[in-house]
Amino acid sequence: MSLLNINYLNIVYKVKGKKIKAVKDLSLNIESEDSVGIVGESGSGKSTFAMSILSLLPKEITEITGDIIFDGTDLLKIDEERLRQIKWKEIAYVFQKSMNSLSPVHKIGLQMNDIYKIHEANATDKDTKERILELFNLVNLSKGVYNLYPHELSGGMIQRVSIALSLLHYPRLLILDEATTALDVVTQGQILEEIMELEEKLKLTRIMITHDVSVVSLTCKKVAVMYAGYLLESGYVEDVFSLPKHPYTRELLNSYPSLTGERNRLKGIPGSFPDLSVVHRGCIFADRCKDSMDICFVREPKTVEISNDWKVACHLVGGEYNG
Ligand code: ATP
Ligand code: SF4
Ligand code: MG
Repeated sequence: MSLLNINYLNIVYKVKGKKIKAVKDLSLNIESEDSVGIVGESGSGKSTFAMSILSLLPKEITEITGDIIFDGTDLLKIDEERLRQIKWKEIAYVFQKSMNSLSPVHKIGLQMNDIYKIHEANATDKDTKERILELFNLVNLSKGVYNLYPHELSGGMIQRVSIALSLLHYPRLLILDEATTALDVVTQGQILEEIMELEEKLKLTRIMITHDVSVVSLTCKKVAVMYAGYLLESGYVEDVFSLPKHPYTRELLNSYPSLTGERNRLKGIPGSFPDLSVVHRGCIFADRCKDSMDICFVREPKTVEISNDWKVACHLVGGEYNG
């Protein structure tokens, strides 16, 4: 069953007279209980896309068109009140710098208590505390954390608190935006395992934004590869990562010598990232693509479904000059 259906999403930032096209004609269908990794170089529009789902982008400088249909409701067309009902309860978002979303002057327990009561106004303090401690247990936090301030916690503990917080209302969709990136490998591994266990238990659907393709390979069913605002390839991890069709996906995977070996950040693909404030012609990756042809510089490739949910936007895929 489709839980989140995104159609022709376009997002433009308007800053200092410039228009930055951060997301371009993005369409993606996410089924209930899917786990989808979103990968791509810095500036590819991963966070912009994810934040648009919960209307977290600064309204004064963004222009959004397209549909974001969550369980039949277009999230781009609902009012603040309906959005408030959905936030935390149906969709929760964990940021990389979760510390920033916690108040430094209030104890963790009190902050979680307040968030719980947004949707459960009649809950007793006792029930609320029980729920919070149950979640602490799920994410391996001791009860003592309830009475601590954010600055008294380590980075790993803060991320665990944020994940517990995001699960307070048993959301159906969990969005993790580089939520474990800053952690050491061991802590990251533990938290990812916990998340996957929770997913089983709670029947969660997860969108996981990361630079780290090995994290996607180990924890996600599906992957979506973004570049400069475009979704270039998407499908099941076992398909896309074993036989990538898009030249950019290949480059991305090549920058990780081994999925199980040393964990590196993206080493870099030769050539430079396009200026998103300039109008492009042809394929967005053409300037850096080893396989580019003349057509690539003049015609934008269409997205072609090659099999079971595996979609690619490249002139080399789907017949000669697919565009
Ligand atoms: P990273 O991996 O570094 O987090 P990302 O893939 O999440 O990158 P975004 O943060 O979504 O990328 O940024 C996409 C583009 O939009 C970039 O060119 C960025 O500079 C631009 N952008 C993002 N936020 C804003 C903003 N608040 N104002 C103007 N431009 C922005
Ligand atoms: Fe490379 Fe052309 Fe495919 Fe773009 S369309 S990725 S330039 S081969
Ligand atoms: Mg980001």
